[in-house]
Amino acid sequence: MSTAPQKIAVIGAGYAGMAAAAVLAAEGKIVDVFETSRTLGGRARAVPLSEETLDNGQHILVGAYTETLRLMKMVGADPTKLLKRIPLRLEFPGEFLLVAPRLPAPLHLAFALITAHGITWREKFAAVRLMQGLQRDNFRIQPDISVAQWLANHPTACHQHQLRKVMWEPLCIAALNTPVADASAQVLANVLRDSLASHRAASDFLLPQVDLSNLFPEPAAAFVEARGGKIHRQHRVASLRRVDNHWQIDDAQIYDQVILAVAPYHLAALVPELAASVGHFAWEPIVTTYLTYPEHIRLPQAMLGISDGYAQWLFDRGVLCGQRGMIAAVISARGRHLGIPMAELERHIHAEIGRLIPALPEPIKVQTITEKRATFSCTPNLKRPAMQTNLPGLFLAGDYVAGDYPATIEGAVRAGVAAAKAAALAANAPDKLPAQITEKR
Ligand SMILES: Cc1cc2nc3c(=O)[nH]c(=O)nc-3n(C[C@H](O)[C@H](O)[C@H](O)COP(=O)(O)OP(=O)(O)OC[C@H]3O[C@@H](n4cnc5c(N)ncnc54)[C@H](O)[C@@H]3O)c2cc1C
Repeated sequence: MSTAPQKIAVIGAGYAGMAAAAVLAAEGKIVDVFETSRTLGGRARAVPLSEETLDNGQHILVGAYTETLRLMKMVGADPTKLLKRIPLRLEFPGEFLLVAPRLPAPLHLAFALITAHGITWREKFAAVRLMQGLQRDNFRIQPDISVAQWLANHPTACHQHQLRKVMWEPLCIAALNTPVADASAQVLANVLRDSLASHRAASDFLLPQVDLSNLFPEPAAAFVEARGGKIHRQHRVASLRRVDNHWQIDDAQIYDQVILAVAPYHLAALVPELAASVGHFAWEPIVTTYLTYPEHIRLPQAMLGISDGYAQWLFDRGVLCGQRGMIAAVISARGRHLGIPMAELERHIHAEIGRLIPALPEPIKVQTITEKRATFSCTPNLKRPAMQTNLPGLFLAGDYVAGDYPATIEGAVRAGVAAAKAAALAANAPDKLPAQITEKR
């Protein structure tokens, strides 16, 4: 039995990888992190441009992101300073408004529904019955079906038409990044259980007031390095091989445990044995358009929904992160927007903002970032790989790893924490590892 300290590597410095590295560092482990990019954060990262820093997509967190908030605090990134907390507010100007007051759960939700504008009393009761039904069934939907089917099968279906448009569909697309016709009702139920149906603060929106790299990955990197770890930026791991009971990275460094925290589409290149575990995944895009107007231009609220438009949500970057005059428009999942030229889409979005801000001038600048593989398509009964692989000392972390949540920051962080705990356990008791595979690849 070896008494030398076990060496641990994390490949990928997205939220999952940095969560894993931070947890290991907190446990006293020296950890090496390898990241292709100079910028940390992966699919939730800052995009530094010459005049300003954008994000690769406007993100929104919710109060239910307990592990993300816990780890932010642990690495010294104060959530109360870095996130703007807004009690649940769904607003589609002129069509729908639902605001949750600061009352204890479930009164906050009941009050929000009773006082909602833009839906009838029958629709309000239909929404309550739907949530009560979920609660009664312990948020289990067996067998899993699509969100569209689930709504159509519900006894209140005839009163769900407007609710589907202003509540269930926007919530489903925002949380699962998958159209309702294809989205898993079970995963949506998990999200509703931990947000709307949980304690009041769990449904609060938490909007980043700094760029996404500085929200968590950079403070986590500082935390890891302060504890002896190293972040290897601009180091794309080209090969990971099992050699004599160890893992060898790029035919050089040797590790006892490796946490693979890359996106699923990067798995196969590193470990071909794992390719089949994600080969059936499909992908959904997210488009974020940043429109810069003169500094006095503001949205009526920090975050607003758009119904019947190309844009789905608008965010006032001036209110959120001091980028005055900048509005971010988000379009999640597949849709008709993918069929038109970018310049035309940007013109439509500008016109949609113009419906909310009288005498809106032309934008000074428009920048669009399209993430074609933003998240996996969160379909019913999707088989997701487990964190534990059958390769000794190799653990998976990432938003796609088996868990309750769709592809989100919280899903990624939870997977990172779980992988770190497993790797630390293996490092503490190396003799208890399963039989080693010694063949070389
Ligand atoms: C535009 C957009 C908007 C989104 N909006 C939201 C939102 O509002 N709320 C929310 O909760 N979630 C949102 N998400 C989802 C969220 O960003 C992801 O679920 C999460 O960031 C995934 O983190 P991850 O660590 O699992 O993977 P990734 O972020 O993909 O991290 C993997 C990392 O591995 C690195 N890597 C890959 N191969 C190698 C290699 N060979 N060597 C070294 N490094 C490697 C990559 O460079 C990357 O940094 C959004 C995603 C996008 C793209």
